[in-house]
Amino acid sequence: MKIDFLVDFIEKCDCFEISDKLKLLLFILSNKPATFAPLKIYPKNLEDKSHFEKHLNEHNFFPIIGKPKSFEEIDKISGNKIIWSIKGTWYGYDLFKDKKAKELFKKYIYLVKKQKHDEADFIAGKIYDYPVCCVRNYIKENKLDWLKKKYSYYKYYKKQHDLERKFPFVIHSPCSLKCKATQKLNRKNKQIIKKHAPRFYKEFTKKKSFKSDFIVEGENNFITGIKEQKLWSAEKGHDYNIISKNKFNKHNYMFSYLSKNKYEKGTILQGRAVIQHNYADFVFKKTKKIIKNLVHVRHFKALGRKY
Ligand SMILES: [Zn+2]
Repeated sequence: MKIDFLVDFIEKCDCFEISDKLKLLLFILSNKPATFAPLKIYPKNLEDKSHFEKHLNEHNFFPIIGKPKSFEEIDKISGNKIIWSIKGTWYGYDLFKDKKAKELFKKYIYLVKKQKHDEADFIAGKIYDYPVCCVRNYIKENKLDWLKKKYSYYKYYKKQHDLERKFPFVIHSPCSLKCKATQKLNRKNKQIIKKHAPRFYKEFTKKKSFKSDFIVEGENNFITGIKEQKLWSAEKGHDYNIISKNKFNKHNYMFSYLSKNKYEKGTILQGRAVIQHNYADFVFKKTKKIIKNLVHVRHFKALGRKY
């Protein structure tokens, strides 16, 4: 079957992040209306783009292919500098099950441009096949006042971490840990991937562990429009961004790490990361020195797209 060649390519290639592989495989294997994935080209995998497109041409996915953009990755960490350098080019791929899904996507873009975000999010929920309860909740949680009323800092980030661990096979933000629609979807997606993309399933579910020093790079929060203030302040919990000083799979990874301990920016935590699915758990043995005045040296912000 032609589908097998495409699945095989996605499972083996180096051009998609693991979370994007999951999105693409679910789109292809479970007949979802649409998906989006960035394809990354390094000097080592130049032929992946034409190879991917050759397989795409065997199907009617009505692709919209974005213009090439450069991307950066962490090259090295030296003293107080996290040095990024341009590693290649990425292209965004929007794929659709049929013309109707593509038309709906165009409507979505139109609404985003008109700043009608709630309406746009509802349509996005349809295009990407998210449960309605979760889309409603997502729209509510986009309003920062509501978010602050509903959660403490720790409760909010704890929920995000728990959701990732409970539902690794869904690609939307579930409304709650008890969401029935998400439970069902997570189970269904897992079965589909296990059956039809076993190579990816094995890689995705395997526990991968590595030792490193991890640098506390910053702390997550929402910034409110008024004087760029943080949404939550002085809370008993911290959702840190931490960067592995050692390379794993040739990359310095950035992870999120939730803790009740207070660490200054630049603190080095020595320990081990255990990666499974799309998240990492940590065991830290000790706190080493603090790097003062930690800075990023880079050209662009993170990979992403704007309308
Ligand atoms: Zn839900």
